[in-house]
Amino acid sequence: MASKRAALDTEPDTVDKVPTKPKPKRKKPSPPKVPKCGCRGDCRTRKCACGKKGEACGDSCKCTGCVNPFSILKEYNIDLPDAAQDKCLMDNIYKVKDLRGRLEQTYELECCEESVQLKDMLPRVCHCPGEECGYEWQYSWCWDRFIDEEYRPRYHCEKCRRCGDYRGDHCDRCNQCYFAGHYGFPCPCREEDEVGSDDEERETCAVM
Ligand SMILES: [Zn+2]
Ligand SMILES: [Zn+2]
Ligand SMILES: [Zn+2]
Ligand SMILES: [Zn+2]
Ligand SMILES: [Zn+2]
Ligand SMILES: [Zn+2]
Ligand SMILES: [Zn+2]
Repeated sequence: MASKRAALDTEPDTVDKVPTKPKPKRKKPSPPKVPKCGCRGDCRTRKCACGKKGEACGDSCKCTGCVNPFSILKEYNIDLPDAAQDKCLMDNIYKVKDLRGRLEQTYELECCEESVQLKDMLPRVCHCPGEECGYEWQYSWCWDRFIDEEYRPRYHCEKCRRCGDYRGDHCDRCNQCYFAGHYGFPCPCREEDEVGSDDEERETCAVM
């Protein structure tokens, strides 16, 4: 009893501690799990279960000479859950031959001719580190350059799996991107249809 009281006295703050609500943490796509892929090789391909989820390989992985690109991103302290949500990154990361070299590559931002290394500008939209600049850029893995996010934002089509014109849009009907312009014109395939036939039923069939 006595020792318990003494312990309380040394920590007066714990006495009136009210049960607090759990703090709203930053959104995470999934709770941290122990990553584990079944690879026996070097995790070079998309087949690797860790890489597929955008996770680095861990101690429980049995891979050898691992080159899982997400392990490399982690080496450079790049936020992996964020990176995994970048479709342009996800569609390209396995195609980059020398990922470390790419991450250390220097790019000049047109806003103020500031030189940056790719590793410091990932993932997703980043701000120019130039003094009093802060201009928004986003790296396109498809084009290997920085895209002016303020005027011509990056448009990476998840279905075509490549970057396109920022005024582009994807047509589910002909399954390709087309130029939609600022006002969101319909795909030319629909225009042809309106002129060419009276068959309006097809419109509804095209919607998945
Ligand atoms: Zn693996
Ligand atoms: Zn693994
Ligand atoms: Zn691995
Ligand atoms: Zn700048
Ligand atoms: Zn892209
Ligand atoms: Zn179309
Ligand atoms: Zn598309």
